[in-house]
Amino acid sequence: MIVEINQPLGALNTFGISAKAHRMVRIRAESDLQAVLADPQWHEAAKFILGGGSNIILTGDVKALVLKVEIMGRRLVSEDDQAWVLEAGAGENWHEWVTWTLTNGWPGLENMAMIPGTVGAAPVQNIGAYGVELQDRFESLDAVDLQTGKTLTLKAEHCGFGYRDSVFKHGGAADASHADVAEGPLRALSPMGLAGRVLITRVRFRLPKAWRADISYLDLARKAEATGIDCPDATTIFDWVCEIRSAKLPDPKVLGNAGSFFKNPTVTAEQCADIIARDPGVVHYVLADGRYKLAAGWLIDACGWRGKTMGHAGVYDKQALVLVNRGDAQHPCTGGEVVTLAKAIQTSVYERFGIRLEMEPVLV
Ligand SMILES: Cc1cc2nc3c(=O)[nH]c(=O)nc-3n(C[C@H](O)[C@H](O)[C@H](O)COP(=O)(O)OP(=O)(O)OC[C@H]3O[C@@H](n4cnc5c(N)ncnc54)[C@H](O)[C@@H]3O)c2cc1C
Repeated sequence: MIVEINQPLGALNTFGISAKAHRMVRIRAESDLQAVLADPQWHEAAKFILGGGSNIILTGDVKALVLKVEIMGRRLVSEDDQAWVLEAGAGENWHEWVTWTLTNGWPGLENMAMIPGTVGAAPVQNIGAYGVELQDRFESLDAVDLQTGKTLTLKAEHCGFGYRDSVFKHGGAADASHADVAEGPLRALSPMGLAGRVLITRVRFRLPKAWRADISYLDLARKAEATGIDCPDATTIFDWVCEIRSAKLPDPKVLGNAGSFFKNPTVTAEQCADIIARDPGVVHYVLADGRYKLAAGWLIDACGWRGKTMGHAGVYDKQALVLVNRGDAQHPCTGGEVVTLAKAIQTSVYERFGIRLEMEPVLV
């Protein structure tokens, strides 16, 4: 086991915030993790699990032992008349995984092309894009309990998937919202949540053979109309998603960012009607349960934030939902500046619309 000391994290987070990990271990196989847990020095130490760093904001140097997940491997696990079951190591790059499945003739993940990060982090916030979420294609995952070292296999019913949410995002006794997932293999674990408690090592996907194009999302429907292709195949949808995303979102290699910074809030029909009465242009979608989802980017834009800068953190000029790094080598952007900007945005959206925006990235 090699413990890297004072490891710079600037290149290991897509916001490009400079910070260090006091101690970092690369986990390339389950045995690396078992070695950490068997070492008396590290067994009880606080730990932070790092994937591709595309959904975190570093607010300082990380004192916890950083476990950098680099478990690789891709395979077809099984196949029957109904579906293919595929498996990827947690350290695989998500977009490369999606590309590989399509190249091998296994469609189903194309709407989620180009989401940065690793396969192992995908269940943590139940990633989703263009009308499809991870939970729609999820079979099961393997994870190691960082306290006992035991390996668990978790099915969807154990994961508490929700909109950009799962049991892996919650922890501690204060949060009982996921108490009902503590069944079966989780019974011995905290009934409240698994954030920081388990490291996901492998994820399996079920891709139905009865594939159907999902172009219900407005941007994809527009592409179908513009190209005249009503029934695109999976590769065409993949290409469309890549084109749309490249035009809309800043490339983290050019402009540091963590993707959408806030979740789209859900409101009651009465709240939505009230906002429409005052702001008829508000972008909203009705949900199956009769409530409404509002476009957080629109709310932020309406408060005048698009293109603004505070310190060295800013709001992307093409999409107000994305906060960006406007620092440079001489004047670096700090995590504190990002949080200050995010809180100022939350306050002004609350003051104007009475809605509390929830941050999507994890503050470390
Ligand atoms: C330009 C851009 C666009 C984006 N677009 C989207 C989008 O369309 N849809 C979407 O849902 N998200 C999007 N994101 C957010 C991000 O890509 C996803 O949340 C992604 O799954 C994070 O993966 P990661 O490996 O970078 O995780 P990290 O940022 O490294 O970690 C995120 C959290 O997961 C935990 N974690 C990481 N790996 C593991 C593991 N193996 N086991 C247990 N816990 C783990 C970490 O401790 C942390 O709490 C976008 C981000 C960017 C920068």
